[in-house]
Amino acid sequence: MSRFKEKVVLVTGSSRGIGKVIAMSFADAGAAVVVSDVLAEEGEKTAREIRELGNQSIFVQCDVSDSQDVNGMIAKTVDKFGKIDVLVNNAGITRDTLMIRMKDEDWEKVLNINLKGAFYCTRAAAKEMMKKRTGSIVNISSVVGLMGNLGQANYSASKAGLIGLTKSAAKELAPRGITVNAVAPGFIETEMTQKLSEQVKETYKKVIPLNCFGAPQDVANTVLFLASENAKYITGEVIRVDGGMRM
Ligand code: NDP
Repeated sequence: MSRFKEKVVLVTGSSRGIGKVIAMSFADAGAAVVVSDVLAEEGEKTAREIRELGNQSIFVQCDVSDSQDVNGMIAKTVDKFGKIDVLVNNAGITRDTLMIRMKDEDWEKVLNINLKGAFYCTRAAAKEMMKKRTGSIVNISSVVGLMGNLGQANYSASKAGLIGLTKSAAKELAPRGITVNAVAPGFIETEMTQKLSEQVKETYKKVIPLNCFGAPQDVANTVLFLASENAKYITGEVIRVDGGMRM
């Protein structure tokens, strides 16, 4: 498949998890992929796997909550590939606990990585995309940003904030031919959900009309659609990938 041939795609937090599946899917569709993460060893491995598939890929170590790091990551991308066509703001963390027990640093760390990090990356990438008057940005939010969740005041605030950022950036960047959209996954089979007991999983499945968890590939498929020519008239949109949980 060559849907993204000659496109340059940067995915944050793509050493492992959903981000890695997004990065591999873009590579499979012909893109040159910048793998970016705080995790160097796993990030190098992901970039190597992409090169072994015959695609161009580099790993750039970057903490998205550090604006200097982010500016350096975008500069390295442009140095290597001359442009950036697609940015996927995927890096994210959780520090779950009930609000009354939540420490200042639990709040700050989650907001700094999930929301401020996405702002830094969007700002830096948009400057490059504006020069070419084309590009797409896809933010990985969460259904929790739409509905809230106990024990996740910090995480749900960051993911709701990401939706506000998506819509504002979509309005600001539309005149320059850049689309900005968000994907809001529900329960996705990852290391995180694998740790849950069967009983807890069954309880969660009862509130999902499709009665199962999603796969990282379900998220990746939606990201690729939003970044593709097929979605060129879609901006400021939030697409849930949640089996109908929050319809
Ligand atoms: P993972 O923890 O598996 O992957 C996230 C990646 O981001 C990790 O490699 C992580 O590194 C990296 N990362 C963490 N902090 C930073 C940072 N400061 N700068 C750059 N990279 C960083 O998460 P998932 O794959 O499960 O989730 C991916 C995205 O999808 C997240 O935004 C998450 O909120 C969202 N999401 C996930 C759902 C799910 O069910 N799994 C549901 C809804 C949304 P490290 O391991 O060192 O932390």
